[in-house]
Amino acid sequence: MNDRHLSPGNRRKEQNPAYGLLQPFLYGDTVTDQQLWSAAVERVRTDYGALPPALKMQLSELSAEIMALKARHQTAVAKAAASDVCAECKGLCCRFGKHHFTVVDLLGYLSAGRELFSPSFDNPVCPYHSGSGCLMEPALRPFNCVIFICEQLETGLEERARADLAGIETSLRRIYGEFDHLLGNRFANGLLITFQRALDSGAPLFQDET
Ligand code: SF4
Ligand code: SF4
Repeated sequence: MNDRHLSPGNRRKEQNPAYGLLQPFLYGDTVTDQQLWSAAVERVRTDYGALPPALKMQLSELSAEIMALKARHQTAVAKAAASDVCAECKGLCCRFGKHHFTVVDLLGYLSAGRELFSPSFDNPVCPYHSGSGCLMEPALRPFNCVIFICEQLETGLEERARADLAGIETSLRRIYGEFDHLLGNRFANGLLITFQRALDSGAPLFQDET
């Protein structure tokens, strides 16, 4: 399990009014990934709840678009090649998933009112892997996981399927970019890194200009 130093944004056990959450929950000089995850989720939940309703509605519509595109991607891959190939391979590509889950993916859960899974950072495969598969349904999985097509998979894809998948990927990139734009931050680095950076800098996670 990875430990890390928390940024010295405020004295130990002292509330920081700038972003009001951290030290009281994260005692000690180091925090585990599990603690960082819990604090990050709580922070995103709180900050998302405080956004203007019109913006929340906009984000919710974008999240719904993302879900639909990811579901389409999964269907296209499964139809073209993946179902057997991935089942037989048992997810070799899931070994480095820790930072794939981003703030945007978490907002997908929140805006859809879906119950969030519980990761396990002791899992040697991926914290979001249950042992028998991903804890997230395909439409809510991280962008990197959805669009990844390994060589083995790619060889089974016909030209039309490739073009369809490329189109979906382009649309997904555009919508993920809209989240960055609307919320004034870059979320591609993953939830834990984005949150840690916000802690280190003292900057808000969301800088909407509405
Ligand atoms: S995408 Fe490739 S590496 Fe990943 S589960 Fe499917 S076959 Fe395995
Ligand atoms: S988040 Fe899910 S799909 Fe992505 S690497 Fe982890 S277990 Fe695999």
